[in-house]
Amino acid sequence: MTGQAASARQIVLASGNPGKLAELSVLLSPLGWQVRAQSEFHLEEADEPHPTFIENALAKARHASFHTGLPALADDSGLCVDALGGLPGVRSARFAPLSGASRPQQDAANNALLLQQLGDASSRAARFVSVIVALRHAADPEPLIAQGELIGQIGRAPLGQGGFGYDPLFVLSDGRTLAQCDAQEKNRISHRAQAMRRLLPLLQDVWGRSAAV
Ligand code: IMP
Repeated sequence: MTGQAASARQIVLASGNPGKLAELSVLLSPLGWQVRAQSEFHLEEADEPHPTFIENALAKARHASFHTGLPALADDSGLCVDALGGLPGVRSARFAPLSGASRPQQDAANNALLLQQLGDASSRAARFVSVIVALRHAADPEPLIAQGELIGQIGRAPLGQGGFGYDPLFVLSDGRTLAQCDAQEKNRISHRAQAMRRLLPLLQDVWGRSAAV
């Protein structure tokens, strides 16, 4: 570890999703902070029982900060499909009721269930939503919060190998799915990228002023 890395500010990412962790680490890199995954601390994922992204993101960040003693950042995200009244929404990760499935199996089952529920509906508008919360400590009364969204359509069959989750079904305005974009492009346009673009200046300004809080 370099001297700079040893003294860098640390932040723990409250997620066990490798796809999200990779994207968030790149998006946070302009800060030059030491980004640590909660798995480094052998932390289980927090429960996400709430009906809104913001409440779940707060719960995840608080859980990670409480158990690590570090500032924490959590993204709660999901796919909201208009024709399904906003589902899968906050239930996106476990839309298909499987138990003990691997992440790729769960993702494939979620995509299959989404296609089944939409059937041949002609209205297939959808958006990815990401709410990101950052806490300086578990009892931080001033969470930093930012939201981003990406608008698209649900395709009729999965296409592409990139990304994770519902990316192979999420069709952009140019006709490609998010899984057909490379990682750099996804990280420029995604809901998570847009939320993080709003959060970065707050992290620099607000936390920069309150380093000791
Ligand atoms: P969370 O861990 O509760 O925030 O679950 C987020 C879930 O929403 C993921 O497991 C995916 O199913 C879905 N999701 C969120 N962001 C993305 C994305 O960028 N691409 C594809 N699926 C996503």
